[in-house]
Amino acid sequence: MVRKLSLVFLLAAAAGCQTVQTTQPGVVGVDRQQSMMVSSAQVNASAEKAYQQLVGGAANKGQVNQDPAQVERVRRVARRLIAQTGAFRPDAPAWAWETNVISAKEVNAWCMPGGKIAVYTGLIERLQPSDDELAAVMGHEIAHALREHGRERVSQAQAQGMIISVIGIATGASRGALDLTQTVVDLTLNLPNSREHEMEADRIGIELAARSGYDPGAAVTLWEKMGKLGGGQPPQFLSTHPSHATRIADLKVYAARVMPLYEQARNRP
Ligand SMILES: [Zn+2]
Repeated sequence: MVRKLSLVFLLAAAAGCQTVQTTQPGVVGVDRQQSMMVSSAQVNASAEKAYQQLVGGAANKGQVNQDPAQVERVRRVARRLIAQTGAFRPDAPAWAWETNVISAKEVNAWCMPGGKIAVYTGLIERLQPSDDELAAVMGHEIAHALREHGRERVSQAQAQGMIISVIGIATGASRGALDLTQTVVDLTLNLPNSREHEMEADRIGIELAARSGYDPGAAVTLWEKMGKLGGGQPPQFLSTHPSHATRIADLKVYAARVMPLYEQARNRP
């Protein structure tokens, strides 16, 4: 057992496992080192491919950017948020950001690694968000990308796969390489984020919104709206977080903390 474990660590080292700090802490103070086993370039290339497949597939069915006014609104909010991403990482404003509105009934939005954003019409129609609330959702999703949570989760999957392949070597079974593009799709659409990732995205998202001149308090009203949706299964946003009340309490604290940034942004000429 000890020998197997040290082999895992050896493989991890050989594969280039590194500890990184993806973002600066900001006023909200998100400060956690992350272990990465794949490069940003690899993950972003896979995300790019996955995004083009998803959006392209939806476009072929006439389900992308159907309402020009809606698209313009969503992209305007995205532009303002993206312009402030440099507060957390200087490289981010120059990323190849893309924002599209997908016609789907789910209350959902996401941002793939590298800045590939989608907002579903279900979110806009069922939540009827104000611009401030829309900025809260999109700020949260953009924060996942800034923190490279996708890359971190791929790294975790890779580490697990490596353990399996070590066992495979031991038992003589072979295992195919991790399909990175499919993994990115699964992580974005199907697998919930950890509570830790959600909390980081909430806090960074609320600061991004404030810096962009959107009322950070809207994150609270947004989540309250989500909570009231009810009927059938909870929206994906809710099901990914263990406690709705804890989240709202945390958002209130951080909304107050970034309020001066919002005031500054509003007073900008
Ligand atoms: Zn999230």
